[in-house]
Amino acid sequence: MLKLKLEENLRKQKIERIADENFLRGKQMFVYPPVVKPDQDIEVFLNKNLSTLRDEEDILILGAFNDWRWKSFTIRLNKTDLKDNWWSCQLYVPIEAYKLDFVFFNGQSVYDNNDQKDFCITVDGGMDALAFEEFLLEEKRKELEKLAKEQAERERQAEEERRIEADKAAKEEDRLQARLEVERRQETVLQLMKNAVKSNDSVWYIEPGEFKGKDLVRLYYNGSSGPLEHAKEIWIHGGYNNWKDGLSIVERLVKSGLKGGAWWYADVVVPDQALVLDWVFADGPPQNAAVYDNNHKLDFHAIVPLATPDAQYWVEEEQLIYQKLREERKLREEAIRVKAEKTARMKAETKEKTLKSFLLSQKHIVFTEPLDIQAGSTVTVFYNPSNTNLNGKPEVWFRGSFNRWSHRNGPFPPQRMLPAENGTHVKTSVKVPLDAYMMDFVFSESENGGVFDNKFGMDYHIPVFGSIVKEPPLHIIHIAVEMAPIAKVGGLGDVVTSLSRAVQDLNHNVDIILPKYDCLNLSNVKDFQFHKSYFWSGTEIKVWHGKVEGLSVYFLEPQNGFFWVGCVYGRANDAERFGFFCHAALEFLLQNGFNPDIIHCHDWSSAPVAWLFKEQYTHYGLSKARAVFTIHNLEFGAALITRAMAFADKATTVSPTYSREVAGNPAIAPYLYKFHGIINGIDPDIWDPYNDNFIPVPYTSENVVEGKRASKEALQQKLGLKTADLPLVGVITRLTHQKGIHLIKHAIWRTLERGGQVVLLGSAPDPRIQNDFVHLANQLHSSHYCDRARLCLSYDEPLSHLIYAGADFILVPSIFEPCGLTQLTAMRYGSIPIVRKTGGLYDTVFDVDHDRDRAQSQGLEPNGFSFDGADAGGVDYALNRAISAWYDGREWFNTLCKTVMEQDWSWNRPALDYLELYHAARKLE
Ligand code: ADP
Repeated sequence: MLKLKLEENLRKQKIERIADENFLRGKQMFVYPPVVKPDQDIEVFLNKNLSTLRDEEDILILGAFNDWRWKSFTIRLNKTDLKDNWWSCQLYVPIEAYKLDFVFFNGQSVYDNNDQKDFCITVDGGMDALAFEEFLLEEKRKELEKLAKEQAERERQAEEERRIEADKAAKEEDRLQARLEVERRQETVLQLMKNAVKSNDSVWYIEPGEFKGKDLVRLYYNGSSGPLEHAKEIWIHGGYNNWKDGLSIVERLVKSGLKGGAWWYADVVVPDQALVLDWVFADGPPQNAAVYDNNHKLDFHAIVPLATPDAQYWVEEEQLIYQKLREERKLREEAIRVKAEKTARMKAETKEKTLKSFLLSQKHIVFTEPLDIQAGSTVTVFYNPSNTNLNGKPEVWFRGSFNRWSHRNGPFPPQRMLPAENGTHVKTSVKVPLDAYMMDFVFSESENGGVFDNKFGMDYHIPVFGSIVKEPPLHIIHIAVEMAPIAKVGGLGDVVTSLSRAVQDLNHNVDIILPKYDCLNLSNVKDFQFHKSYFWSGTEIKVWHGKVEGLSVYFLEPQNGFFWVGCVYGRANDAERFGFFCHAALEFLLQNGFNPDIIHCHDWSSAPVAWLFKEQYTHYGLSKARAVFTIHNLEFGAALITRAMAFADKATTVSPTYSREVAGNPAIAPYLYKFHGIINGIDPDIWDPYNDNFIPVPYTSENVVEGKRASKEALQQKLGLKTADLPLVGVITRLTHQKGIHLIKHAIWRTLERGGQVVLLGSAPDPRIQNDFVHLANQLHSSHYCDRARLCLSYDEPLSHLIYAGADFILVPSIFEPCGLTQLTAMRYGSIPIVRKTGGLYDTVFDVDHDRDRAQSQGLEPNGFSFDGADAGGVDYALNRAISAWYDGREWFNTLCKTVMEQDWSWNRPALDYLELYHAARKLE
């Protein structure tokens, strides 16, 4: 007690002394204790006489901590008993504080804010500004986590409600169906009763006369009354209730000796639910009878006299039917749910695996430990300069930032990298902030710069997981003249749709602008509606909007009729029509205030977008955008492609090898610095043997052997081929020079010679080629090979699915091939590609005998057979090895099918490459 009192006195004296000192020096404010620490109460003093608030009645303090960012407060000051008119209040300094900021005021509008500077006091011994920043981020992370949990809970509840609703609707539907079924049966029974009788004395009768379900009765038949007069045996083939359960009564009759020996009988147990018995007589058991007495095609029908149904019977019957329907529905729904879950899980696993191998694929140059970087953690970056342009430099400096160089902290100071334990790499460690979603870096030879390795202008970027900040979405607009499945002519249409879907899946915004052809397949457009009209170049252009495969599409319909010609391509003025479309599309973007990051155009048909944009629209207002141009096939429209190459910010083609093959082309050669090869992917939802209505047994890599066996049989049956376990080679192609027609023909004969089967699905735009193949088909189909070769000369999407699934091999012997989708789809269905080493075929197929190293450098196993020469010897080299492998090692072959199925040839990886390219384009001036 005494001690406390003493301390209190001591404190009072100290405060008095400090107050005096301050007053003498004319300072109107101080705090006690003078050194402020976090998590502590302090007292703030203001001298009213020295303050601008000297004439005010009330005095309040208004403040907060850490540059006004943390825990603001307003507290009233009271007059103290110190001399000179000091006022004070108590204040708690929170543990996170590094600074206290405040002003005084009268509760209204008169302030003492320390001559506009505000008052501020440093808090000692706690967090500093940086640590507080981290703390705030951590708080935000926790908040986001909480919100996400709440959101998940809300979604769960909504889902539960949806489920309950759906269940209610399903129950009603099943009830209704049960009622209808009962009504139908009542009607049938009524009809049956009309036709049924108790006996037909000269032909048949039953003993005893009164019976019901489960009773044993004896049925007599007059054998000489009908066609069985001379039969050695007589059998009854019976059922009940109008054959409801099919054939359920089979008995052999015996001669009865009654009435002169013409009568036969059998003992029969009446089925439980039977109201009416139905039967015919025959001279043998089912499947073994030749002569029947079916009562002149009406069958025989006997009433079950004691079973005439009453109302209660039908109530029970309805309940039974209802329960059966419920049970069936439950099983059906459960199967669908299990399948959907498995599909989603496999998709997610594939995506994750692909991202991992993407990160590992540059391991010989750069990798991190751990491989997935988490926001808020520290990672080590390893770099191997001997594989880059920094080879041999005495020092390597690491320079980087986050969020594509846009992080609030800016780039961090260059760090000198130190030798790593493995002897090849150098390393450094980096603290990744909680608000980072991407780590960006380059390497240089010295602290000040000098020679850089910036990955050929792209910089190194590694995604960071668990960031509290989301990556801002890019807005990408495709201007294209094809789009699958509503206006597809070739691969270009597939790429526009599936690339857009993959980029949209990565949380970016995508729109597509397409001509509104009169031949559009509108049944695949959702929410199709008129959007607006605008005028350009003397024409009204109607704009429609709708969703295709989940993508937003604007359809332009110029009233000059350019797209009312019944086709996509094939008019004399195609270049004029599409040129007009390109111009109109940019005009639409401008007039409607679009401000995309990327405008992506394709092939000769939307090539004009590149220069119209660069020469005109970038100056008119679409200034933020960059133009990306993709070449799907360099065969057509050379002049337009050359011009687009000159103007595009970045250009791509559809595989790295094709990009090298065309590098010498005058359209490409001057622009190699901005030209990249990015492989196409296939859409894993459209091509999915586990969810494919066109094949008999769904399969994954786990049951690939059974799945493919069933498909092969279905294919053989459908096409009238011998159902046998033979090596089956499939060909699915446009029949044009590009696809290696002479090699296809040769392969057909070679496969047949080797005892295999061949199925070709092909359509030829050129009638001469079509005729040629019709001729070949006739020749084969009428030869001794007719049960081993089938040529289907049409375009048939469903059949193509069955071939991909049922074939052992898919042959793609193209003369040139920008990318090729057939070999990728083949692998998705566990078929082994046999390809010519050209373009994208070379980038995606790795020969089991020759390409192990090349495959491994991409994190892959070999997956097919390939050949070089565009002649018979070339095809034979690959085809013979493939067929021999099939005959000689089925175990090995089956493992290969499984391996190719597990490779990811979807857009998962290429979409990441396109995004890198889009970002690189955005960085250009
Ligand atoms: P291209 O675009 O040069 O024709 P790709 O291999 O890139 O070659 O794409 C061809 C696509 O068309 C594949 O999806 C293939 O399955 C399909 N296809 C080719 N011919 C037919 C056909 N006759 N019937 C059904 N689909 C076909």
